[in-house]
Amino acid sequence: MSDSNLLEKIVALCKRRGFIYPGSEIYGGLANTYDYGPMGAELLRNIRNLWWDYFVHKREDIVGLDASLISAAKIWEASGHTAGFADAMVDCKNCQARFRADHIISDFFLNFYRLSSKSKDASELISDMVGNNPLIIIPSDDKKGIETKLEGLPIEQLTKLISKEKILCPNCGKSDWTEVRKFNLLFPVNLGIVEGDQSLAYLRGETAQGIFINFKNIVDSTRVRLPFGVAQLGKSFRNEITLGNSIFRTIEFEQGEIEYFFDPEKEDWQKLFEDFKKGMWNFVVSSLGVKDSNLRWREHSDQERSFYSKKTLDLEYNFPFGYKELWGLAYRTDYDLSQHQKFSGKDLTILDPETNKKILPHVIEPAVGINRLMLMVLTDAYSEEGERIFLKLNPKIAPYKAAVFPLLANKEELVNLARKIYEDLRKEFLIAWDDRGNIGKRYASQDEIGTPYCITVDFDTLKDDSVTIRDRNSAKQERVKIPDLTNYLQEHLK
Ligand code: ATP
Repeated sequence: MSDSNLLEKIVALCKRRGFIYPGSEIYGGLANTYDYGPMGAELLRNIRNLWWDYFVHKREDIVGLDASLISAAKIWEASGHTAGFADAMVDCKNCQARFRADHIISDFFLNFYRLSSKSKDASELISDMVGNNPLIIIPSDDKKGIETKLEGLPIEQLTKLISKEKILCPNCGKSDWTEVRKFNLLFPVNLGIVEGDQSLAYLRGETAQGIFINFKNIVDSTRVRLPFGVAQLGKSFRNEITLGNSIFRTIEFEQGEIEYFFDPEKEDWQKLFEDFKKGMWNFVVSSLGVKDSNLRWREHSDQERSFYSKKTLDLEYNFPFGYKELWGLAYRTDYDLSQHQKFSGKDLTILDPETNKKILPHVIEPAVGINRLMLMVLTDAYSEEGERIFLKLNPKIAPYKAAVFPLLANKEELVNLARKIYEDLRKEFLIAWDDRGNIGKRYASQDEIGTPYCITVDFDTLKDDSVTIRDRNSAKQERVKIPDLTNYLQEHLK
């Protein structure tokens, strides 16, 4: 759906139907935090469970882990996060607003390009604008293209670019900036109750490090053999400045990460990489039911890729604010294990039982945000037909699988029979009950939370033992016998 207000519409629906609420709302809100309401909690749980089922339970070679959210400072020194995990920020001296430097620069170039591209050829424009400036090579209609070129640039160059182009503050319109400075994204936690004797720890900035530091524990306490993966689902925390795109980027979010360990002398990393690529795509399209026309792969440039990574790809989704990273896939070599070996002084190698050689395995890492998957499925499912708004959610992830209504709430025989059907179906499926308002309102509310089927008990039911089933996507209705309902849902919810 191409609609400039699409994000606003989704955010409004999520608030009015109990998917997502702004965090700490009754106290005026807390920026970049969100709470998930009854529908959101079910949707998130369904996505999370499908991910776990697909990548852990359905695979013989991947096991799970649930590591601590609070972790020793040393872990983050070893991983490079305390030194390098930082956003380049710039403050407006006039209004004190703070922005990510790459965001205001890319917005500036994008606006300039959009405004002027009517009259000039793109390459001509860019050379007019930046002369021999090597930073911006190709204008891209897609902001990510420009941001990518800015990523990894030294902060001095970002400062220079902001002042050379006299970029204006998006908040107050002045051009009076501080130098660009780096802000670390990790949340420190002070442990201990004795003042002056506090020790520093961090809320984890990603789930992956918990996997690396437990690598030896897992090998020693289970039957795993290389190649094998360790998967983890859980909260991560990053003190980021966000752009207000709802739950796309928040300071607390849930990740699903896998570290797939292998011996590079025995396995072809390109094949493992391709297998994960297929798995990720397939999960999004088949398990979550997202249109593949809204997905694409983007390979990281040499400048953007971390120095230890041999190859990094992002699976991107066409969000209402453009194509953005959904899921990263990286071949990280043995960087993480060797760093932890160095910083902890512990031997993290394992013995190859055939050759008796010590190996420090390499890893391939697919890393996704569960909340980002949720924003993607909401975007993909949002549909309008005339006045009707409905979420075309894949039945596998819809909060409720069906709703049961008595046609009239004040007719005891209808209510009793509907209640019985509801209780029976609840043994197998998550079912909603609604007897408020008129049938039109009930349909509208179930449509907006994506319930695939509505079952109505009416006066004919008392005579023919059949109910009306209405399909969410087509709004078509059909009559089904009560004893066939369980089978009907089993068949249609596949
Ligand atoms: P981005 O470029 O969007 O900041 P990243 O490259 O820092 O993401 P990773 O560290 O690779 O992301 O994390 C893996 C996944 O976790 C991302 O693909 C994304 O889906 C999710 N993620 C990362 N940061 C956030 C955040 N602040 N809020 C929600 N999800 C996030």
